Amino acid sequence: MADWHGPSPSPIRAGLTCRCPRCGQGKMFDGYLTLAERCAVCGVALRERDSGDGPAVFVIFILGALVVPLALWVEVSMEPPYWVHGVVWTTVVIAGSLALLRPFKGVMVALQFRHGTPDQ
Ligand SMILES: [Zn+2]
Repeated sequence: MADWHGPSPSPIRAGLTCRCPRCGQGKMFDGYLTLAERCAVCGVALRERDSGDGPAVFVIFILGALVVPLALWVEVSMEPPYWVHGVVWTTVVIAGSLALLRPFKGVMVALQFRHGTPDQ
């Protein structure tokens, strides 16, 4: 493994940009949600930092807290047919999940890298 002596980026910045939590340059992911085996720039092992179900929990809570009040507001103020709710909110939840999962996983992996995990 190559040594890295430069400064590490903030975990939030590294996570949101999906970059290596140690050097801030290499890619964190190899695919949409699969962690790269190692950082191509500094060589730090990344795959062993997997964050499990953590990112999904945050995404569920955030999207649920946004979508439920929005759906209620749309129903009360516009009274659309129910199929409109089905189409709109299904699309919003799927698109929102796909958009949020990767950066949230990035942030959680970077935070684990910075602060350690219980089993390491
Ligand atoms: Zn790196």
